[in-house]
Amino acid sequence: MIPCQQHHPPDAARTAAPSSPPPADKPWQQRSRHQPRGRLARRDVAFKAEHLRLEPNCRGCGRPAEQVDHILPLAKGGAMFDHANAQSLCGPCHNVKTRSENAARNRSRSRRSGG
Ligand SMILES: [Zn+2]
Repeated sequence: MIPCQQHHPPDAARTAAPSSPPPADKPWQQRSRHQPRGRLARRDVAFKAEHLRLEPNCRGCGRPAEQVDHILPLAKGGAMFDHANAQSLCGPCHNVKTRSENAARNRSRSRRSGG
């Protein structure tokens, strides 16, 4: 006869701190890899605020800009804190650019199958 030890888990399972964040191992919950953290994030905020002062209007439509976009994406080696690589965009124009970038990526990744 084998003693059933599995019905008595060790105390470690109960002493886990309730305030610890849940594991983020789900890809759809992860944040963008290109978002800087810590000190870089603060510099990023300052840089964008400065760029919006230099270039307050959206390059796409001329309305007041809300966001600073990297012309050459960081993922492709673009400079993060270079005003020459930054452009001011309003929300809608930024969405359009992001969507077109994603579409281009999907197009280049998907294989042609038949006609
Ligand atoms: Zn715009």
